[in-house]
Amino acid sequence: MTAPRVGVLALQGAFREHRRALERLGANVREVRLPAHLEGLDAVVIPGGESTTMAKLMRAYDLEAALRTFVERGGAVWGTCAGAILIARTIQGRPDQPRLGLLDLTIARNAYGRQVASFEADVDVVGLDAPFRGVFIRAPRILEVGDDVDVLARHDGDPVAVASGRVLATVFHAELTGDDRLHAAFLTRIAGVALPPPNERTPS
Ligand code: GLN
Repeated sequence: MTAPRVGVLALQGAFREHRRALERLGANVREVRLPAHLEGLDAVVIPGGESTTMAKLMRAYDLEAALRTFVERGGAVWGTCAGAILIARTIQGRPDQPRLGLLDLTIARNAYGRQVASFEADVDVVGLDAPFRGVFIRAPRILEVGDDVDVLARHDGDPVAVASGRVLATVFHAELTGDDRLHAAFLTRIAGVALPPPNERTPS
């Protein structure tokens, strides 16, 4: 069978860890730095990092329109942490920050306690058999979700994993603990692609 073809936006941030998680699942992974790199992909992951830096680079390399078109044509996108900020329609207090606006969300940057506040928490995610260890690193907080957005997980009442159609956003990092269940769920349930059976995956 053909392996899912997945891109990882590799402008800045934690893209290598996503790449490794996706490769462990048997995906064919490509680092995306230019619009042409989206060609033929089933899905793209936008990693955590620094959303302002990523947004500037995304604009400089013409990736904003290209990623929107990618989704309009049926491609799936998952944004983690800074990636979730880039996916949101509204960034509180920052109307000028470039963003993709792929999900009807209002999100606030660095909104969990003090600027440096980071923590881990077990999160119950819809569809996963057991809690997922979320790593929240200067995480954004989702303040509002639109009617067409499903909340897949909450932490202390706040949505921390949300999806609509082929777009998923998590405010926590899911690539740092070696637990690949969320990557698998993104590919199979959001992107709608099949994973190679475990014995056909090349060990990385
Ligand atoms: N604080 C970062 C931002 O606002 C996001 C943090 C992260 O991705 N871990 O861009």
